[in-house]
Amino acid sequence: MRSVLARRLSLVAVAAAAVAMSGCQAATPAAAPPTTTMSSAAPTTAPPTTTVPATTTQPPTGHGQVIVLDPGHNGGNASHPAQINAQVPAGRGQSKACDTTGTATNAGYTEHAFTWDVANRVQADLTAKGYRVILTRPNDTGVGPCVNDRAAIGNQAQAAAVVSIHGDGSTAATAHGFHVEYANPPLNAAQGTPSTALATALRDSGRAAGFTTANYLGTNGLFGRPDLAGLNLSTRPKALIECGNMRNANDAAMMTSPTGRQQIADFIAAGIIAYLTH
Ligand SMILES: [Zn+2]
Repeated sequence: MRSVLARRLSLVAVAAAAVAMSGCQAATPAAAPPTTTMSSAAPTTAPPTTTVPATTTQPPTGHGQVIVLDPGHNGGNASHPAQINAQVPAGRGQSKACDTTGTATNAGYTEHAFTWDVANRVQADLTAKGYRVILTRPNDTGVGPCVNDRAAIGNQAQAAAVVSIHGDGSTAATAHGFHVEYANPPLNAAQGTPSTALATALRDSGRAAGFTTANYLGTNGLFGRPDLAGLNLSTRPKALIECGNMRNANDAAMMTSPTGRQQIADFIAAGIIAYLTH
């Protein structure tokens, strides 16, 4: 969503503070088989009575924890430049445009449509596991919200984890792969170890699902940076995933495909759950 030049200017070395997150899967309780009982006093003509024994109800994994998903950009941004270009607080004493239009594949599939679709798929995955999911925008036809307001939504929800979802737009044809960004240096406790652990869990989950980490920026799929308002202004554990480079032919094909988007959503949801249950 941002130019390669801007990224390079803001490049901050990522500390190799990888937190091992593998092997941290929540156990799925085995379903108890129904037992068949027959009363010894019953007449022989009576059919056996099948009863299901009372079992301790296992709470779903999420037990109501709040996750905020932030689908980058919005479908109405391009037609509302005045609103979108208004300056808003970006943290570290800086200001930044309210939002941007985002990028697109060379064939015209937009980043805002991609992020909206993936966020809804992640929401479905997490809701099925018992998490409460809040999206930072209600549809893909509006304007904004501004990046500082997106951060505020996660803060006000006291989210257990916040994940912004994006697609990158590097024009370097060979640039490909996904990476996960976090605020660095951290401005509060949530931006320290928790956000780094969340980013690492998302990176590990993507790799475990067979996705390749970016070959054009960051280190091993992780990229700490000081210049993103949505990360700087968060008081909750937060990471931003660039799911691939929409200008790269192979990444674009994957991101344009509903099957590819489902695979991305599944590994994002799995990464969030790994972070929350490790
Ligand atoms: Zn973006």
